[in-house]
Amino acid sequence: MTKFQDLQLSEALVKGVLKMGFEEATPIQAETIPIALTGADVLGQAQTGTGKTAAFGIPTIERIDTKARQVQALVLAPTRELAIQVAEELNKIGETKRVYALPVYGGQQIDRQIRGLKKNPQIVVATPGRLMDHMKRKTIKLDEIQTVILDEADEMLNMGFVEDIEMILKGLPAERQTLLFSATMPPQIKKIAERFMKSPTIIKVKSKEMTVENINQQFLELREGQKFDTLCRLIDIDSPELSIIFARTKKRVDEVTEALIKRGYTADGLHGDLTQSKRDQVIRRFKNGTIDILVATDVAARGLDITGVTHVYNFDVPQDPESYVHRIGRTGRAGKTGTALTFITPREFGQVKSIERVTNKKMNRRHVPTIAEVLEGNQKQSAEDLIERVQAGDFKAYTQLATELLEEYEAVELLAAALRGLTKEPDSTPVEISYAEPVRVKRQGGRNDRGGYRGGARSGGGDRRTGGGDRGGRSGERSGGGGYRGKRTGGTDDRRRSSEDRGPRRPRD
Ligand code: ADP
Ligand code: MG
Repeated sequence: MTKFQDLQLSEALVKGVLKMGFEEATPIQAETIPIALTGADVLGQAQTGTGKTAAFGIPTIERIDTKARQVQALVLAPTRELAIQVAEELNKIGETKRVYALPVYGGQQIDRQIRGLKKNPQIVVATPGRLMDHMKRKTIKLDEIQTVILDEADEMLNMGFVEDIEMILKGLPAERQTLLFSATMPPQIKKIAERFMKSPTIIKVKSKEMTVENINQQFLELREGQKFDTLCRLIDIDSPELSIIFARTKKRVDEVTEALIKRGYTADGLHGDLTQSKRDQVIRRFKNGTIDILVATDVAARGLDITGVTHVYNFDVPQDPESYVHRIGRTGRAGKTGTALTFITPREFGQVKSIERVTNKKMNRRHVPTIAEVLEGNQKQSAEDLIERVQAGDFKAYTQLATELLEEYEAVELLAAALRGLTKEPDSTPVEISYAEPVRVKRQGGRNDRGGYRGGARSGGGDRRTGGGDRGGRSGERSGGGGYRGKRTGGTDDRRRSSEDRGPRRPRD
């Protein structure tokens, strides 16, 4: 284990990093930092969540000359969210040294960015498209760049940024350091490395298959038309703290979200059609527990770093096993256990086998819960709520009334009646979910699974539902805790062609 103190860093940097709660360097950091500090090029491959930002951020910031008032380092990131996230992390690392990173991305007013750029940030974190705009307008000066970083390079290529990136790299001083980080290394990336990097040191950190280790993986075989009621029953029984429900298309995300709200759950949806501010709002509300169910498409949830997700429900089975690993990696983080449950329609049964092959772990079959089981679950939940309230002790105003009632009625009867009042009866409010074709079994690709270092414990409940008559909400605050505090919001850039659009659908059967 490598300590940051042993990495030949200045005091300011060590301080900055320790202040962030990092105790020891992650493997990619331990290997990258000493080499990058010398100014040499690095080609780093490690899965998501392994701390790549600090791996390039620490040496880059260390090499910044705080007296020089110009952009000295440039980070290219695929999406607006990642640009913001990386800039935030760099600003934290560089706080003590007083190095400032500015995010620059599409969708934000260009005037505002121009003003930001005039304030002489030493680091600019940009999405390629917007950076090109600034280069064309000559509102950014890149001739003092000494380090350029391509972050999430595979994502940038997937999104069709390859030409922009080449243009940008050609516009930078030849005498510079180039760092490239990616979760995967497709041939296209190797080509870029050959053309634009100087005998880079290749650092590859093996992916520990930590994604699925702590996750209880279940599947449930049912008909398409049973999915929604089953989902509600499962939520009632499992009482997730925070859960993400994956649906295949934007339309289904909207439908499932609406249906959940109709049934009294606090849910919201996330997909590529939402405006940026709406997306930010949804993520924020989910992170702070205002809503505890997030319904999302694969694309919209990509890269989301949210701690405290206890359950992932695959309302629709993912198109391929890699997306599956991606999806369920949203739970079971930071040593916590999580549950992933996948709905499988009879014709999709083959998916179970291909998923098991990729994760190398068996999925447990679960049966569709009965109404009686739901009721039992809800009763248990009410009892827990009640006990929590007793422990909280916040009921003085009611003791007088309680004493009077006890003089007249049996304690058991009173309590049973109160519990009944607290218990949510299974809800059968009609809802509309359109039919979705089963997924076709696809060949398996060879992408790495991702998982990672992210996490940070979150404890406590938060109200699970709204509505439901006089049912009391559970008490308890979420407390952000634990070491790895960084949050990640992910998502799409305007330019991304999302697979969300392609989901087959047909009117309700
Ligand atoms: P990647 O870019 O590899 O996906 P990030 O750089 O986003 O990963 O890091 C993932 C999370 O881990 C972030 O919340 C970050 O703050 C945290 N992290 C990074 N390095 C360390 C470390 N050495 N110790 C603890 N947490 C870390
Ligand atoms: Mg990253």
